[in-house]
Amino acid sequence: MIEQQHICKKCILPDGFLGISLDSQGECNFCRDPHHENVNWARTQIDQERRANALDDWNNIIKQMQKNHGNVPYDCILGYSGGKDSTALLDYIVTNLNLTLLCVTTDTGFMTNIAKDNMKDTLTQINVDHVLIEDCIPTFTKLYKWHFLNHNSNERFLARYICDFCSDLIHSIVVKEAIKRKIPYVFFGYSPDQIARYFFEMPRDQIIEEWTPDLIFNDPIFDDSDKQWYLTHEEMNSGKLPRVLLPYHVIPYQEQDIIELVESKNYIKKGHADPLLTNCNVVHAATFYDFNRYGGILYAYQYAELVRQNPESRKKWLRTLKISAPLILDNNFKRKEVNVFLNKIGISQNELIKHINLQLEQDPNKKQIQTNINLFKKKRVARRSITISN
Ligand SMILES: [Zn+2]
Repeated sequence: MIEQQHICKKCILPDGFLGISLDSQGECNFCRDPHHENVNWARTQIDQERRANALDDWNNIIKQMQKNHGNVPYDCILGYSGGKDSTALLDYIVTNLNLTLLCVTTDTGFMTNIAKDNMKDTLTQINVDHVLIEDCIPTFTKLYKWHFLNHNSNERFLARYICDFCSDLIHSIVVKEAIKRKIPYVFFGYSPDQIARYFFEMPRDQIIEEWTPDLIFNDPIFDDSDKQWYLTHEEMNSGKLPRVLLPYHVIPYQEQDIIELVESKNYIKKGHADPLLTNCNVVHAATFYDFNRYGGILYAYQYAELVRQNPESRKKWLRTLKISAPLILDNNFKRKEVNVFLNKIGISQNELIKHINLQLEQDPNKKQIQTNINLFKKKRVARRSITISN
């Protein structure tokens, strides 16, 4: 059986998956050592003291904003995506805190129709000012294309690079709007389980250090029309940076309550608050790339951690892995979305596969990766006797 030989007996990570090797007991690095981490994933635990301090901080900020309310055009900016979380946060700030905010949306060129519908529905219910920034789309397109065609790491998933640089740019564009309008606070509606790089606050030193990649200034394909979306030295160093906060990391958050709230107030149509529907096409395409390049996907680390926390869910996740792996490998999972994405950035699937194979050819771990890929592919053929053509 595939899982007995190749998959960690405690979680779902396969032997030879990026940074993973099973020991003689059949356990992976993360299951052997709870403190284990690698460039793609580290378990994030926030202790009670840090949580309590962040909540105090939040309460003081609210008091300060309420004291100032009426003296400024906007108390804060909300990074508004049209998803259920930022929609509920919008409602909370206006209805519960009685503050005036400006909603700012960054369009990457891949905003879903559902997100656009949600915005329209919400903004007819709540009267707030909204800025939609679309002129940045060509910069996002260029960056996606660059990363898909130049990714050359043997260690770090493409999805990891993509998510980091894309969210940095989205955040940077919203923060620039805050600087321009002298608004001291920016909020984003990340849920409590989204603590990838930041807990409660995106600290100023990290914003300065990490948000502007060298690539933008070193590669000549990026010109002034791209650079304008990044923070300038002046903006970073003149004390003008707002505080960038993630309130859901400290205030109560229950996913089901959020869905009920946004649906009952007609902000979002029934069914449109489903977290799976607002998934990102860029990530789907990166997932196709990563599975063919590394024999696995970035999210496997996260799912494996869920299994560690709830061993009874292992069977369910293993099943999901076995069903979805062959689909992802052959671009039959979210195929339409992946193809729309590749089309828009101007890469063909063949071109991408050629690049993947070229990279894989030079990877010292090549044999193991191919073994893993073949295991998943064979499984499908044996199970359903279907051959997939690309
Ligand atoms: Zn494991």
